[in-house]
Amino acid sequence: MTYQNPETSAVRTTAGRSDQRTHSSPIYLTSSFTFDDAEEARQMFAEEIPGNIYSRYSNPNSDDLISKVCAAEGTADGVATASGMAAMFGSIASVLQQGDHILAARSLFGSTHQLLTRVFPKWGITHTYGDISDIGNWEKLLQPNTKMLFVETPSNPGLEIIDLEWLGNFAKVHDLILVVDNCFATPYLQQPAKFGAHLVTHSATKYIDGQGRVLGGLILGTEELIQEVRFFTRHTGPAISPFNSWLLAKSMETLPVRMDRHCENALTLARYFEGNPKVDQVKYPFLPSHPQYEIAKKQMKHGGGIVTLEIKGGLEKAKNFIDRLEMVSITANLGDSRTIVTHPASTTHSKLSPEERNQVGITDGLVRISVGLEHVDDIIKDIERGLG
Ligand SMILES: *Cc1c(COP(=O)(O)O)cnc(C)c1O
Repeated sequence: MTYQNPETSAVRTTAGRSDQRTHSSPIYLTSSFTFDDAEEARQMFAEEIPGNIYSRYSNPNSDDLISKVCAAEGTADGVATASGMAAMFGSIASVLQQGDHILAARSLFGSTHQLLTRVFPKWGITHTYGDISDIGNWEKLLQPNTKMLFVETPSNPGLEIIDLEWLGNFAKVHDLILVVDNCFATPYLQQPAKFGAHLVTHSATKYIDGQGRVLGGLILGTEELIQEVRFFTRHTGPAISPFNSWLLAKSMETLPVRMDRHCENALTLARYFEGNPKVDQVKYPFLPSHPQYEIAKKQMKHGGGIVTLEIKGGLEKAKNFIDRLEMVSITANLGDSRTIVTHPASTTHSKLSPEERNQVGITDGLVRISVGLEHVDDIIKDIERGLG
């Protein structure tokens, strides 16, 4: 059964009940699955009949997670992985080959940047970066061997927004595989597949878990491409643990209500600190001052849970700000129920050169706030304490 409303779909979509008639899915901690006879084993391996064989290939808990996220994204099929980076790597490695070229938005998660600049070149897969502020020129960045477009929107941590409608058309016209890392928006706020994304990737570690407990990743998309992804993951082994799948599937049930509150708190916080004399800039997709505000409004349900503050005075002042906080956690994760502050230049994006950081707007004074589910007054109070 399919449900129109995302809240209902998140709660009710399931891959099925166990033969014990359990209401809540049990955890299937098993490496393999048994066959009734030799012929059934042969048929399952030959993919003549469906069924779980071995938990590196599939497992009822990962099926449950995938069915919930596919329902939310509007994608046909998917694969769950042990981490977000396994999903980013798998989405590229499974469909490209030596000699192919990727056109990517410059603003990418730090490790994804390392994949493109340090890992894939070893196997002859190259890339060019395009700036989101300059998409009018992207056509000139295409090469005869360009096969894929890879973007993040909103980007981490710059919160740059790329027009998905434009991007979907661009991919279609030039016959490119469009991959969108939808980690920051979550499928509740934005569904890239509706705009023509062929693959949608997630770090489920972030909002899909939502409580900072486990790692996980997802690659979702068209049946045809997921078949290639599944072949790749089945034989290379980035399988997610059944326990993590179970936990993430449970978390999917509360994604809409959690995101509503994350976004409400983030917007309140962004409005409160905009214009504060100790802050050079407050960036949030649903503030009219955001450079891509109109695009964000067009393609996102709410503005997301991340706000960035550019602290006046650069590195030293940003560090002072972080050290004065009493409640907000200092850690590199995001999308947690607890508010988190991160200094990207010295942590998540420290492997980038100063020039590379500059190009994606990661200044020394930039702090990323993952706005949690505490009462917004308490979050604001602590941020004020930080500003001194
Ligand atoms: C965290 C993150 C990743 C990597 O996910 P892991 O689960 O940490 O491996 C990829 N992309 C974005 C946008 C992220 O925020």
